[in-house]
Amino acid sequence: MANDTFDNSRRRFVKLTAIGLAAAPFANALLSGRATAADMVTESDPQAMALGYKADATKAEKRTDATADCVTCNFFSGKPGDADGPCALFQGKLVSAKGWCTAWAKKPA
Ligand code: SF4
Repeated sequence: MANDTFDNSRRRFVKLTAIGLAAAPFANALLSGRATAADMVTESDPQAMALGYKADATKAEKRTDATADCVTCNFFSGKPGDADGPCALFQGKLVSAKGWCTAWAKKPA
């Protein structure tokens, strides 16, 4: 009787361990995806302040080209239609597609 309880506990432990090991790579992928999505550049970030980054390009005082925004910038690697995307100058952190900073460089056609 006592051996049956021990065997059942051991089987359960082995089964749960196997499930945990099988799920580990997927959990890591999910966690890293979530961390990237939360990594938005803020206007108060020291680098963003140095570059005059504004999440809303229309509020950037030094902007002279009305068509210039992050989505038209060569450093922006977001997909068309996305609200935000990675910027190479901010180590891949996300910037607003409608944002702008003084480092803006026109994306080649
Ligand atoms: S470098 Fe380009 S994509 Fe990055 S914040 Fe400045 S304008 Fe936006």
